Amino acid sequence: MDSSYQPRSLVVVTNREPYVDEKIANSIRRLETAGGVVSALDPVLQQVHGAWVAWGSGSGDRDTAPHGVRMVPPQAPQYTLHRIFLSPEEVNGYYNHYANQGLWPLSHMLIERTKFAREDFQTYRTVNRKFARRTAQIAPQNGAIFSHDYHLALFPRIIREMRPDVAVAHFWHIPWPPFTIFRLCPQHQEIVRGLLGADILGFQTPQDVDNFLTAVERGLKYPVDRETHTVKFPNREVTVRDYPISVDITAIEKMVEGPRIRRWTRALRHKAESQQVMLGISVDRGDYTKGILQRLTALEEFFERYPEYQERIVFLQIVVPTRTAVREYRLLHQKVTEESARLNRKFSRNGWQPIIHVPRSLDRPRLMGLFRAADFAIVSSLFDGMNLVAKEFISAQLDNRGVLLLSETAGAAAELEEAFHFNPLDAGNFADQLARALQTPLNERAQRIQMMRQHIHHHTIYDWMHQIVEALDQVAQSYASR
Ligand code: UDP
Repeated sequence: MDSSYQPRSLVVVTNREPYVDEKIANSIRRLETAGGVVSALDPVLQQVHGAWVAWGSGSGDRDTAPHGVRMVPPQAPQYTLHRIFLSPEEVNGYYNHYANQGLWPLSHMLIERTKFAREDFQTYRTVNRKFARRTAQIAPQNGAIFSHDYHLALFPRIIREMRPDVAVAHFWHIPWPPFTIFRLCPQHQEIVRGLLGADILGFQTPQDVDNFLTAVERGLKYPVDRETHTVKFPNREVTVRDYPISVDITAIEKMVEGPRIRRWTRALRHKAESQQVMLGISVDRGDYTKGILQRLTALEEFFERYPEYQERIVFLQIVVPTRTAVREYRLLHQKVTEESARLNRKFSRNGWQPIIHVPRSLDRPRLMGLFRAADFAIVSSLFDGMNLVAKEFISAQLDNRGVLLLSETAGAAAELEEAFHFNPLDAGNFADQLARALQTPLNERAQRIQMMRQHIHHHTIYDWMHQIVEALDQVAQSYASR
């Protein structure tokens, strides 16, 4: 599937904006926010001249769009970006607190880290209303709206009240926990009712769909049709389905075949081979859901149980700073740096050290080049909606060499069956699986990679987008003909 599908019109609503303007010294720098959702939806909006509503979070956003309206892409404008400006109190209550310290850890089943406060929910609701008010002003009659994620759970219901003529799809990017956990959210009923304002509700995995439907039945006592995965109301119905998000594998293949990245990748391989070391890699936002500390514990166990791999593996650990306004995230960053240094002190010898800790982001071509060059990658999430890094690593494996160690509790594990799965809390199991993966003969590795590559080729980010947007378009048409 390519990006050619064209809905009639579309308004995308997300927390994060596709184009950010940052003030650096006295000038304004434009940054495109990287990420699968933006790269799938941006071309569609460009084709249909739609609109995108998002929080104007950049320090230069007000300068380039005093009234919050900016035509984008800036170099060749095709659609309108509507920026919602938030006060520092709103950013704290809505984003740092209710979304990131409440819904995020709870959805990842990390109860101890979860905090809910009533006043934050008020702010969350106010901000969801702001998003809805702006969207209601700009959405065309009988238009289609595609909103996203745990920042905007109340949005679908509010927009439905404001604009009953529009069709709404909402995609929940993170896991949906079992009801026994979700009910700990003091506003669990409001959250589920908010989401049920959509016509189509998308989740990453069948398990998430099942958990959500249970929350509808048990939390709200609404009847659910388990056969068709629908919640029926007198005047409309909500379809709840899994749409696993994915990557643009063709673009990744092209990227790693480009002359500059190919040269770089070859040089890396040459260096690793001449030093007789295997190159391992992990790439995560510095988030406690990613199991970064647990992975370091497992690597320690691995080097102890399998000392023959000492001096033979270099593990490149890329940790991108994230949500630095939240204390837990700053502490985690510090802890990861300390633990990496401790392991290096413990094992280093003869000029070799096992961990290279890189606490910053890399640009995509280099990242994909590293994925191609690596002998193995580890994704150790405790829970993860999908984990795109796992799919990107496989997409970049054009030489059919690398092995993927994948946490069985990452959403991607449901699809990437040929990866080496492990329990991220079981350091012994993790260490054994890593040793098993590294001993796998080349022909078996190639087979595994090819099967996973085939799967990704048949389930790209465009298929994801196409399925949701086409279903949404059908609902919009049925509303228009009422
Ligand atoms: N990423 C990037 N540069 C970096 C690190 C990560 O572009 O230095 C990208 C990575 O390629 C992937 C995304 O960030 O596309 C992370 O997505 P994932 O689903 O793995 O985790 P999330 O951060 O959404 O929880």
